[in-house]
Amino acid sequence: MTPWPRAATAAGALCAAAAGAALAQLLPATSSLRRARNRWVPGLAGVGHPGHLALTFDDGPDPASTPAFLDALDELGWRATFFMLGEMAARCPDLAAEVARRGHEVAVHGYQHANHLRRGPAWATRDLIAARHLVAQLTGAAPRWFRPPYGAISASTLVAARRAGLRSVLWTTWGRDWRREATVESVVADVMATWVAGGTVLLHDSDCTSAPGSWKTTLAALPRLAQHWQAAGLSVGPLAEHGLR
Ligand SMILES: [Zn+2]
Repeated sequence: MTPWPRAATAAGALCAAAAGAALAQLLPATSSLRRARNRWVPGLAGVGHPGHLALTFDDGPDPASTPAFLDALDELGWRATFFMLGEMAARCPDLAAEVARRGHEVAVHGYQHANHLRRGPAWATRDLIAARHLVAQLTGAAPRWFRPPYGAISASTLVAARRAGLRSVLWTTWGRDWRREATVESVVADVMATWVAGGTVLLHDSDCTSAPGSWKTTLAALPRLAQHWQAAGLSVGPLAEHGLR
């Protein structure tokens, strides 16, 4: 667990973090606010090296879908960051371990997929510490990052993440792949439309909180995304290699 900073430092940091969280919370509203988040809280937004793309997957591990993503990523030669749910990892501990064994970075998406705006700081702290402990225990790796479910982030979320020894990271770019109406074309178009230099891409390797079967669309979109990213000369990798400040 990360030790608490001195009180004055903590107050200042939390104030800035809360302002960043408030800004971050506005992300889904408009593209201009998303750009503001990328500019003013780039670390929280996931803006890293301009020539690097951080590829991230949320909501797994899921025996129905994650193995197919591991195979696809092997074929593409990519390593990614998997934001795991404690509830999912507890059901398939061997698969959680395999994600790390195959070279991917493991991170925390919470134990439950709950909206932090509707929970208090004590709940959030318990949830994150439990998830971090489980993911570390199952994978043998030390998670560094936390992404709150729904991107719903508050000052309490940031306090909880700090107490759990995790750094909060959202995303700059998404494929909106959780939707029932999502297609390969729409996922690719959404990713391209929201792309920024040094961006972090949000996709899902499980449909446990998405439209049933939506992961198949995400999986099918990967080779198409690879064409675009290779043409742009981007290197694809996990957040650990993204140069977040
Ligand atoms: Zn999620």
